[in-house]
Amino acid sequence: IITLAIESSCDETCAAILKNGREILSNVVSTQIDLHKKFGGVVPEVASRKHIENIELVIQSALDEAKLSFKDIDVIGVTYGPGLVGALLVGLSSAKALSFALDIPLVGVNHIEGHIAANFIEHKDLEPPFVCLIVSGGHTHLVEVKGYGEYEILGKTRDDAAGEAFDKIARALNLGYPGGPKIDKLSKIGNKKAIDFPRIYLEEDSFDFSFSGLKSAVLNYLNSKKMKNEEIVVEDVAASFQEAVLDVLVDKSIKAARVKGYDKVVLAGGVAANSGLREKLSEKGKEYNIDIKYPPLSLCTDNAAMIGCAAYYDYLNGKVSDLYLNAVPNLKLGQK
Ligand code: ATP
Ligand code: MG
Ligand code: FE
Repeated sequence: IITLAIESSCDETCAAILKNGREILSNVVSTQIDLHKKFGGVVPEVASRKHIENIELVIQSALDEAKLSFKDIDVIGVTYGPGLVGALLVGLSSAKALSFALDIPLVGVNHIEGHIAANFIEHKDLEPPFVCLIVSGGHTHLVEVKGYGEYEILGKTRDDAAGEAFDKIARALNLGYPGGPKIDKLSKIGNKKAIDFPRIYLEEDSFDFSFSGLKSAVLNYLNSKKMKNEEIVVEDVAASFQEAVLDVLVDKSIKAARVKGYDKVVLAGGVAANSGLREKLSEKGKEYNIDIKYPPLSLCTDNAAMIGCAAYYDYLNGKVSDLYLNAVPNLKLGQK
């Protein structure tokens, strides 16, 4: 089965072609990062317009790279939420038009399910059940993946997402957008024990997260340094902040696996690209005999291959959409 997948939920225009759900024939990502950089974040209207300009080209490149044409496609998968409504509509309209014109099934995919599915592409024999930590620009979820497309949410953030916290602190440190990769890089040279920022664990048995207190603590630290005219060692702030985030993410993920009786923890989402997180979780996993898996860097941040993989399993399970499918900006995980 050949799947064409389209993703346009945020600031990347993406198309990919997969064979039998787990084999990538092409995976094209056209990022708008440079366009949004000067605004310090994604401007929704600008993103939608750029998607419109790009989408046909990106889809055609995906076909070209796979050396296929439209008539070879069996299924179309597309992100219909969560994300920016105007951005989502561009990919969704294209997918619906193609589904209608080619007379092939359309599968609407939840973007967050896509992030999880990135792992199925990389790890050919990975199968549910497992615990998944999803850490992205807009989400932080700890989830029990019980089967393909079957999820139970154990916990989620009560305020900022992990990636959002990285981006906000990076902005306060004048590192630019997106901040996650920059903090990651600086953390390697900074002293993670330089500043003792708070680790917010919430209630004893809660798998929820909260990053707004940590964010305030870092901002207060920076302000007080500035007031006193004291030097700010940017790499130490970055490393100490990152360590505070990672401690909580890693502890809760391992605890979730142990409490729920799983021997696998899988990472997903843009922040899964963080080298410190991959390392720390792997170390702690070893300690408790828990297998840690994560996608390659190219499949951590937004891409259409992950959407194609999720679409493939939905298709196998008979979960196809009709042409009334609409964009759902605040679509929840496990909601269809
Ligand atoms: P969502 O998936 O929740 O809708 P999104 O699609 O915008 O949001 P992703 O593309 O999954 O988010 O991830 C982008 C986020 O990942 C950004 O917040 C970025 O700073 C963060 N990120 C990327 N690389 C790293 C890294 N190496 N370390 C930490 N954070 C990172
Ligand atoms: Mg993005
Ligand atoms: Fe994403």
